[in-house]
Formats: sequence, C-alpha cells, structure tokens
Amino acid sequence: MSTNKPKHIAIYGKGGIGKSTTTSNISAALAEAGHRVIQIGCDPKSDSTTILRGGEDLTTVLDSLRDSGRPTIADVSAIGFGGVLCIEAGGPVPGVGCAGRGINAAVDLLHELKLFEEFKPDYVLYDVLGDVVCGGFAVPIRSGIAESAFVVTSSDFMAIFAANNLFKAISKYAPSGGARLGGVIANSIQTPYASALIDDFASRTGTNVVGYVPRSLTVAQSELYGQTVIEAAPASEQADVYRQLARHIAGDHPVSIPKPLNAPALKQWAKQWGDRVFGGAAERRLAEVV
Ligand code: SF4
Repeated sequence: MSTNKPKHIAIYGKGGIGKSTTTSNISAALAEAGHRVIQIGCDPKSDSTTILRGGEDLTTVLDSLRDSGRPTIADVSAIGFGGVLCIEAGGPVPGVGCAGRGINAAVDLLHELKLFEEFKPDYVLYDVLGDVVCGGFAVPIRSGIAESAFVVTSSDFMAIFAANNLFKAISKYAPSGGARLGGVIANSIQTPYASALIDDFASRTGTNVVGYVPRSLTVAQSELYGQTVIEAAPASEQADVYRQLARHIAGDHPVSIPKPLNAPALKQWAKQWGDRVFGGAAERRLAEVV
C-alpha cells in the first residue's frame, strides 16, 4: 500500500539501549504489513540498518559524498528484509567535522536525488543517536524533517536523562514547527519496577508510554544472525510486541509537547526511586564508607 504523503518519524535513544534494534524491528513489521519503508540511520556508528540486511556492509552517504562527490541512490542504499530501503547517513572523519551537519547533508542529498518521489515510501524512519541532543543531532526534529519523534529508553538513569534532554529539545522547537513527541518506548523491561519507573517519568513529563519491550534472548539470538526478530522468529511473542508498536506508529498516533524536568527535579526524582527500590540501602552503604 502506498499513500501520497509519507510519514517521517524520528526515533531517538541513548546509544546502547536498543534504539536501532527497536527501529529496525518496527521497520520490518511495517514492511511485513505491506507498507513501503525507508530507514535512515543517523548515528555516526552507521550500524542502524545492519539487522535488516543480514549484517552486510553498506557505504554511508557521507563516505560516498567524500569519495565520489555525487553518489546515486544505488550507491548509498540497499534493499533489506521485506523491501525496506536501508540508508546510513554516516559520520564525520574522526576528530573532524560535525555529525549533526552530516545528517543535514545526507538528508539534503536524498532530497536532491528525489529519493522520496521515486521510492514513494509510506514511512521514513530516522534512527537518531540521542546521547547528546545538540543542535546537530536535533536536526531531524528542528528543521521539519520529521513530523513526530519517539524516544526509546530503558529504566537506567542515563537513558532517562537522555530522554529528558530530548524532551527539552522538542519543547523548544515544537512551537515553531518542529516535531512533536509521539511517546516513549520502554525497552529492555525485565522487572515490574522498570516499567513502573518509566511510567512515572512519563507521567511527570506530560508524556505517555506507547509500548513495553521485554528484555529477550530472542532479540540477542536474532541479531547473531544479522536479522530482526520479525524475520528470525516471526511467531514469537517478541515479534508481536514490535508489530503492536508498528501499528501504533502507523496509525494516527497522538502527539504532544513534553514538559521536561529541570536538573534538580530530575535528580530528586531519581533519588526518590532509589529510596523506593532499595529502601535507602544505597544511602546507608555510602554513609558507612565515608
Ligand atoms: S553540534 Fe553536536 S554533533 Fe555537531 S560537533 Fe557539536 S556536539 Fe558534535
């Protein structure tokens, strides 16, 4: 099925907490449901689309721009599972340049090459590194590239910290036409407290959790074969979790402008959760050693 106007969606998350795995499984689930999908990796590591392509290498847009000056779409893309068109924006030469500007240059080139008119996607997913939501990595949400953004977080404080920073960027740019938040994807859920903690963070920042992805051996096993769960274990419960997320994203999901916590409020909130989970034990241990 192909609609006239593709939906452009950015998925942010701290490095290492599963944003690329989540994004790739959502892309695979959308493709499985008959949609035309483009996934654009906006992480200098350039491994966003690996599990859609059996782990094969792919020349990044920025490398191709540096090497050949004027690449074609075929030079910088590969067809992955279910027909998903995979692209990696790439990063600067280490120690030189700005990764964020690289995203801009890559997206500009894809427009110049008329990628969206020719491929006619229903969905374009941008998988964006959310460790530092600087002017560079905010490009997809601030310059009208994506209409909505989702944030993937685990219950780890640094992942929550990164999510709160993304909320700050969205609340800054949304009033002047930037992307709005589609919601929070709770990833790597292993304990009831992990989902309760993320629920509480979402409620305090005026946002909502749109899906809970359990920590799963099926994900790790699928990745060893360079595949998404949708491809490697289509009958698994984990695959259904991703399908449900994909249906939510594909639908007319509500969007909002989050209300991020300021730094003291975030620290206080984290400490309250520490007390709740550990009963103040961590504080008592600290007092014993100082
Ligand atoms: S704007 Fe962001 S990506 Fe660019 S150099 Fe600064 S920190 Fe790095």
